[in-house]
Amino acid sequence: PYEGPTAADILKKRAEFLSPSIFYFYRKPLNIVDGKMQYLFDEHGRRYLDAFAGIATVCCGHCHPEVIEAIIEQTKCLQHSTVVYLNHTIADFAEALASKLPGDLKVVFFTNSGTEANELAMMIARLYTGCHDIISLRNAYHGNAAGTMGATAQFNWKFNVIQSGVHHALNPDPYRGVFGSDGEKYARDVQEIIDFGTSGQVAGFISEAIQGVGGIVELAPGYLPAVYKSIKKAGGLFIADEVQSGFARPGSHFWGFEAHGVVPDIVTMAKGIGNGIPLGAVVTTPEIAQVLTRRNYFNTFGGNPVCTAAGLAVLRVLEKERLQDNAFVVGSYLKDRLKALQEKHEITASPVFAVIGDVRGRGLMLGVELVADRQLKTPAKAEALHVMDQMKEMGVLVGKGGFYGNVFRITPPLCFTKEDSDFFVDVMDISLSKL
Ligand code: PMP
Repeated sequence: PYEGPTAADILKKRAEFLSPSIFYFYRKPLNIVDGKMQYLFDEHGRRYLDAFAGIATVCCGHCHPEVIEAIIEQTKCLQHSTVVYLNHTIADFAEALASKLPGDLKVVFFTNSGTEANELAMMIARLYTGCHDIISLRNAYHGNAAGTMGATAQFNWKFNVIQSGVHHALNPDPYRGVFGSDGEKYARDVQEIIDFGTSGQVAGFISEAIQGVGGIVELAPGYLPAVYKSIKKAGGLFIADEVQSGFARPGSHFWGFEAHGVVPDIVTMAKGIGNGIPLGAVVTTPEIAQVLTRRNYFNTFGGNPVCTAAGLAVLRVLEKERLQDNAFVVGSYLKDRLKALQEKHEITASPVFAVIGDVRGRGLMLGVELVADRQLKTPAKAEALHVMDQMKEMGVLVGKGGFYGNVFRITPPLCFTKEDSDFFVDVMDISLSKL
């Protein structure tokens, strides 16, 4: 049994020694001490089904034995920055990663996080084009350093401190957006930003295919191909942020952008790439990568042997355990069950405090939006928090997000099963009924 510090001990230390801005989920926060595949365990040995996976960070499963083994073995022989020497792990992983990308996307730069990957991607776009303007979406999250903070548009979460060189376009949100699911209409806004807000030339466009922090918003169909045309006409590069939606999570595809039929110029990734180990990457074409001979990019720990050994093991496990297929099969099943739950509460909830307004997403990246009124789409934020707490009490952990904080984010480890999905939906059903 666990005999370490308790939740109360940790809270006391946090209050004194850690940033006042760090937050936790739940009225009574959990002290998580162990993880195994799709389960997390608290200080009392209580087991939770993890449907959030540390914000889609764990893809193969918590403490997957093969990934752990790769980390231990590599740590025993070399744990170092390899910036100025040769080492095979970084090259092996770059080669394996390139094989997962379409077209000519095959030159890899390693970083330690998603923020760094997007910072580098934006820098490459600016160097390549000689332009400064970047277009990103309202409701996007791309990171928390100077450039990416500007590309992020989450003012309700107070993330926007620096805004420079970035224009935010209308979000092609099929549920709340003014044009519904008509992607091409939203894309006109990007063309207008180029026409009215820039010299006519831009550095690029950056977006997630499925917005994560923004509440699992899948971009309206037709949007990305139309924007792609406008951006190309303006000389810009197209950057796909796959930090959350990449690495087999969409199920139907390995990367989120693939569902939209576009091939980006630059793809950024992090989170799932290392199954919990700090690692990020930028992949681009040999031609674009050449700009980094004009201006250099240096990253002490980016691509270090331990993290890249973990990354290589992740790719092996994804393949061996057919986790993309699992994300597709289990994700489709879970989505159907959530849609049935949406209908069930339409009929039976009385008096109605909150109902499911929308079920969306793809594979094992799903969102459930809670509203007080289906027509008005009034966000039910307090109710969402209450349901989350109730679900935790019954042994299920789920994320939340969205502009109004009323969207459940379901991004479990990709080893999630149909039985887990049944348990998840049953627990959500009971919690909603209790509202
Ligand atoms: N892009 C997306 C889509 C993200 O969700 C995040 C993190 N939530 C980031 C970038 C930034 O990644 P990191 O926190 O590793 O810097």
